[in-house]
Amino acid sequence: MREHAALLERLGADVVRVRRPEEFATVSGLVIPGGESTVIDKLSRIFKMRDPIRQAIRNGMPVLGTCAGLIMLADTVLDAIEGQQSFGGLDVVVRRNAFGRQTESFEADLSVPALGAEPVHAAFIRGPVVESVGPAATTLGALDDGRVVAVEQGALIGISFHPEISGETRFHERFLDHVEARRPEPNPTALTPAARR
Ligand code: GLN
Repeated sequence: MREHAALLERLGADVVRVRRPEEFATVSGLVIPGGESTVIDKLSRIFKMRDPIRQAIRNGMPVLGTCAGLIMLADTVLDAIEGQQSFGGLDVVVRRNAFGRQTESFEADLSVPALGAEPVHAAFIRGPVVESVGPAATTLGALDDGRVVAVEQGALIGISFHPEISGETRFHERFLDHVEARRPEPNPTALTPAARR
């Protein structure tokens, strides 16, 4: 989360950490970081953030979800724990912890044509895999073996890995472009987990 905030600030965004609905109401974009999706799910309900976030996603708020954040954005989650819910918004099926023990953490270079010719250097840490991409979502990037690890749908971006720890800035730039595109005037505002003016 600290890495996301630092990166967004370097890109010129005004970053706020959002824990409560009052804070969330002030932001124009949201980053859902990695961590543990089961915990994010539980805390979002305890702090009454689940409904506001779902509503904001429905209203087109730009969201960047990394790793557990992608799980939270997926419409369908496989290998979830009992009762685990996502916010949804991305027409994809993801599988948690899909890389197995041997390869829980690894780095890989991916081609992500939407971000330019330069490959994305991605760090995977117990990340999910996108097992299927529905008609409303678009694949942004896949591993060499074809497994999808980056998707987009409107202003929602979901990626299985952690660009913020490998110095990759282009997903955050794309997220801020979405934020800016929805604002009447410039001055993007992003925060971790959400952004505000
Ligand atoms: N395995 C975690 C989950 O299911 C995600 C790991 C991560 O975000 N680095 O939420």
